[in-house]
Amino acid sequence: MRVAPISQEGMRQPLRRLYLLYHEVRTGESRYSYVVETGVFARQVELFARMRATESAGLWPELTFDDGHISNLEVAAPILQSRGLTARFFITAGWTGTKPGYMGWAELRTLHGAGHAIGAHGWSHKLLTHCGDRELETELSKSRLTLEDKLGSSVTTMSLPGGRSNRRVLAACAAAGYMQVYTSEPRAESLPLGATVGRLNILGSMQPEWIARLFEPGSRVLSELGRQHRMKEAAKKLLGDRLYARLWAMVNRGEPGTDGGGEGAE
Ligand SMILES: [Zn+2]
Repeated sequence: MRVAPISQEGMRQPLRRLYLLYHEVRTGESRYSYVVETGVFARQVELFARMRATESAGLWPELTFDDGHISNLEVAAPILQSRGLTARFFITAGWTGTKPGYMGWAELRTLHGAGHAIGAHGWSHKLLTHCGDRELETELSKSRLTLEDKLGSSVTTMSLPGGRSNRRVLAACAAAGYMQVYTSEPRAESLPLGATVGRLNILGSMQPEWIARLFEPGSRVLSELGRQHRMKEAAKKLLGDRLYARLWAMVNRGEPGTDGGGEGAE
């Protein structure tokens, strides 16, 4: 099992990157958009491992997970490790050991000990654009310091609950000590990474064959997804988060209290 930190792999492979965003991996069908079925996930990981073994790969896949669901450790990590891959897991610190279905501290330490990177995903998963100054402090600093204390390792990356941000939020993230903020804007990244890192949110309906097309040389799939994302962001600004979330819930399958539902909906 290769457990080299992601940053070291980055030094060896100075390529363009596509960061992928997962949430929960589950065996069997799910009615939630953000849940990826275990067999589909295994086929996707196989695809990514093959791509990373290709020296000439133009776009290098990187995996990230948001929220800290227990399936990240119990289902996803063994599949990743069987292919020699590591991922970055963004943890909602206040859920750790308190929210049913999500990892506790011992489980998080196991994941970290296996060579996976850990980042923060807020304290309570509140949308940061809705936070006052005191709440931002809790969501950004308390989450980072608690993760660092419990893991005995520095935490310098953060992903935005619901993908929501603005200039004030990004400035607060930098002030709280985060080097990179991971977003939900689908776009490729070049090394060295900048202050924000775009990601493609992987939905349960995305088959490995479709994902493979994203990585084909000259593919326009990613730029089209980026265009759709910018239109959605414009709609959110126009409608406001609450109305947008109600419309989203009518056409998608969301789970309340996560990125897949309610006001956290994409
Ligand atoms: Zn989330």
